[in-house]
Amino acid sequence: MSFTASERDEVAGSSGSLGLSPVLSAGTASAATIDRATATHDGQPVATEPADELEHEAEEVHVEADDEAPIRRRERRSTSHLKAVPETLVLRELIKAEAERFAKGLDKSKPFTKDELETQGRKFLDEIHQPEKFLGFAMVLIGNFFWKQQFLSIPFERRMLLLPHCLKHAEGCPADYDEYGLDCEKCGACSIADYKVRAEQLGYKVLVAEGSPIVLKIIVSGHIDGILGVSCLNVLEKAIDKVLVAGVPSYAIPLHSGDCKNTSLDESWVWDVLEKYEPLPTPQTSSYVPLMRSANDLFDKHFAELLPPLRTKNLGIAKPAPLALTEAAGYEWLAHGGKRFRPFITLAAYDAVTGGKGIEFGPGEEVIRFSNGASRVAMAIEAFHKASLVHDDIQDGDLYRYGRETLHRQHGIGQAINIGDYLIGLGYRLVTAAKADIGSDAVADILDRMANAHLRLCDGQGAEMAWLAEPHQHLTPLDALQIYALKTSPAFEAALYSGLRMAGPVAQYEELVPQFCRQLGVGFQILNDLHDWNGDDHNKMVAGQDALSMRPTLLLALAFNAANSTQKDELNEILRSTDSAASRLGRLRKIYDACGVFEKAEALVEKSRARAEVLADSVEPEPLRQLLYFLVDTVLADEDHTPAIPPQQLFQLPIVSLQHA
Ligand code: SF4
Repeated sequence: MSFTASERDEVAGSSGSLGLSPVLSAGTASAATIDRATATHDGQPVATEPADELEHEAEEVHVEADDEAPIRRRERRSTSHLKAVPETLVLRELIKAEAERFAKGLDKSKPFTKDELETQGRKFLDEIHQPEKFLGFAMVLIGNFFWKQQFLSIPFERRMLLLPHCLKHAEGCPADYDEYGLDCEKCGACSIADYKVRAEQLGYKVLVAEGSPIVLKIIVSGHIDGILGVSCLNVLEKAIDKVLVAGVPSYAIPLHSGDCKNTSLDESWVWDVLEKYEPLPTPQTSSYVPLMRSANDLFDKHFAELLPPLRTKNLGIAKPAPLALTEAAGYEWLAHGGKRFRPFITLAAYDAVTGGKGIEFGPGEEVIRFSNGASRVAMAIEAFHKASLVHDDIQDGDLYRYGRETLHRQHGIGQAINIGDYLIGLGYRLVTAAKADIGSDAVADILDRMANAHLRLCDGQGAEMAWLAEPHQHLTPLDALQIYALKTSPAFEAALYSGLRMAGPVAQYEELVPQFCRQLGVGFQILNDLHDWNGDDHNKMVAGQDALSMRPTLLLALAFNAANSTQKDELNEILRSTDSAASRLGRLRKIYDACGVFEKAEALVEKSRARAEVLADSVEPEPLRQLLYFLVDTVLADEDHTPAIPPQQLFQLPIVSLQHA
């Protein structure tokens, strides 16, 4: 069964992927670094970025990658040597049988973190005396048998079969991409047609696409509860971050190679599970999927009830009256597009400190409906976030957001600024409307935290614009880290704090929340810098956009920091240059490579990840600790952003295009 048109629209027009859209584009401060020690607002001290910690991080930029930091570290980079697939079927079958035995002894009450799965993978290889190079393969098989029973208990019509493009016969394939994805003509030259036909007969949805963001987007949209996926170990490694740790029952068949062309697999492994259905009385493993769907439903199903329009009864009309235009456009922008990840954080944090009921359900279980008050606070978080994106897109001159034209391109800059302001007002109204459910004190505390987040975000954005107006070489890594902490962390902080505060007093989390969110935000923003060099990112559809516009990114700061005088002169020359984009990008990459910029940035992401995990280690209760680990694993996931199909086609494919939306 293919996705129907309405299902595709539902997935395309709304939430979903657990991956995050960049909160704001990368940016850093000028030499006019904010003086946090003296920062005040109306004579009152405001929350500031802890300079010592950031300075420490900036200093660590100089530290060699193998230094012994006083924190738990995990090595996620350079994993290619760990992704070998055993060459013979005999050995693959042997390891598979052993993995099934091994997985029987595992605690199945909650999903693995990626670290835990790696630990189990290493232990397993030790037990069966197989080399480390099979680690990725072993992790996939252990994950399979961890989830197998629960995957088999999902009815066929609630499953998705995900097939990779590279299975097709590369030279002779007559299929093309259309609005339904890869339109296989079932010519019989490859196995895609065999799997597709049989799976669709059984009731599966079938997608010929790669990458976890699209998969999780479809899961969260509510049509699918489990995945049978065929993919190479490279893609499966990314999927572990997003799909497995979220608690999505999955069964994966690894391709024999990651060559991306005419690949092969053990076909019998697919047939082993494709046609089996074995109901289970109750789900065994907790999952974040129901909570993600709860956040999603705020905007898809309950929007009009939670936020009834005041100026028009019909928000969908093509040309609203002038008095209704701002409301109509603001509501539309709030209701559609984006991943609803921040509202998810709020609801999940609330759930975590009120018993953790929300994650006890399996992924196919009923979606939890939160009180109107809690729901509205979660929606407010999204309203503030989207307001910031509207203004940020104008300031950065961005062309696309959520795979469609940015708001200022649709309505003009003046209207877009106004709609962004309207969304801020809407956010405050949503919070105060929660008073009856969460109490006045909680409302006051949440508003205070949101206002603080707003001020810090504006400070960061202002600093970035100041640098852009007057680029110069006095850009330090500390400047960049300060601005990242100001621009990106407050949104996470407001989302997490609000969820906790709605449940009661939060004295024990007062220090933890900003510290944890700083690591999350800074790490996320650095990853965003790195993704800018890998191809299109979630929204922009244009590779190297940040680099080309010479935004004051951490990468640029690291380059200035490490460059010799000749390289510094060249960097300054590139800043002023009107040469072609390709020429400037090429020169910039050369200097970045020579200065080890990418490696240093990756090391800083690792440090953010490790520090966030150390902070999570100490948190009580257990459901909250679990949520913080989950946030680290998802927000700081190292995604593959290389488009599987060209960006111009991504625009045309409502489902496949969501891979990076
Ligand atoms: S069976 Fe489908 S995907 Fe495979 S080569 Fe033929 S048309 Fe292409």
